[in-house]
Amino acid sequence: MNKRKILLIYTGGTIGMNRNPATGALEPFDFHHLLEHVPELQQLDAIVDNGQLTSDDGRLLPPIDSSDMTPSLWSAVARCIATHYDSYDGFVVLHGTDTMAYTASALSFMLENLTKPVIFTGSQLPIDQLRTDGKENIITAVEIAAAKDDDGHAMVPEVGIYFGGRLLRGNRTTKESAEAFRAFESFNYPCLVDAGVDITYHRERILKPDFSKPMVPHYDLDNNVIIFSLFPGIREDLIQHIIHAPTLKAIVMRTFGSGNAPQQPWLLNALREGTEQGKVIVNISQCVQGAVEMTRYDCGYYLQQAGVISGRDSTVESAVTKLMFLLAQYPDDTDKVREMMGKSIRGE
Ligand code: ASP
Repeated sequence: MNKRKILLIYTGGTIGMNRNPATGALEPFDFHHLLEHVPELQQLDAIVDNGQLTSDDGRLLPPIDSSDMTPSLWSAVARCIATHYDSYDGFVVLHGTDTMAYTASALSFMLENLTKPVIFTGSQLPIDQLRTDGKENIITAVEIAAAKDDDGHAMVPEVGIYFGGRLLRGNRTTKESAEAFRAFESFNYPCLVDAGVDITYHRERILKPDFSKPMVPHYDLDNNVIIFSLFPGIREDLIQHIIHAPTLKAIVMRTFGSGNAPQQPWLLNALREGTEQGKVIVNISQCVQGAVEMTRYDCGYYLQQAGVISGRDSTVESAVTKLMFLLAQYPDDTDKVREMMGKSIRGE
């Protein structure tokens, strides 16, 4: 049997960081330094190559702390995967944990009809530390990216986050702990793979693309979007500034409980005005578990009347990146963006 080929793309993050002797703070280091600490990769039944991120004018991009991630770097990751798509069986993206759920969500939308695994992972402790969680995360992520079924199709043809023994759907995942090795959770969708003594694939939960069709990459994103949270005492003048910001096209509004908001007329009027100006306003709950149901309480019902659309059980990361993707796909068609926000397009 031919060895599976995996492309390992290093974007930065704690996994490859070293302590700067002058400041004492962690900073990203180069990829070769990182791989020196995982000689075990050579024992795997797979060829692991390293992929470099480049800008659209061909410059090599340095590793970063993921707090510095941007939509143009998401496009660079998508471009790297698309360029090497036919030459590899799967892709592992090493990424800082802080914004990994945003990047994984964005990539899930940018890579349409994905037929190969794109597995994000990283670590809470740098790879050169004795108790690092990075080794197990990289090794198992590579194993999952290389796994195929009896028909020769990838076991996990989707964008996932592997961390702490579980593979979660990328656009269902949120970073929940800055401390625990199990840093991520998917509150509204069960894990795709459990990696204990055995690696168990929950096939009924995994997306099934059309393997006879090509993967279609999309690189454009429109980040004229904002996320804001409601709270008791929120001020009308400040909300007016946000809603009437001239370049703003979409809002993720984080509401209470099952999608509720204060019933003050000024808020409902402001939201209605925003909708009438063509802004897409999506209701996502501040609760991480459960779904928005705007017909359950009066205060949710009034939001619907003001044109706010339900984000159901979506994560904030998924809602905001899906809006960036759809606004770029349908720049002159707000109705289409609103319609597509109401549908699951990548299992989100
Ligand atoms: N600040 C780091 C980052 O997101 C944290 C990590 O990798 O865990 O890049």
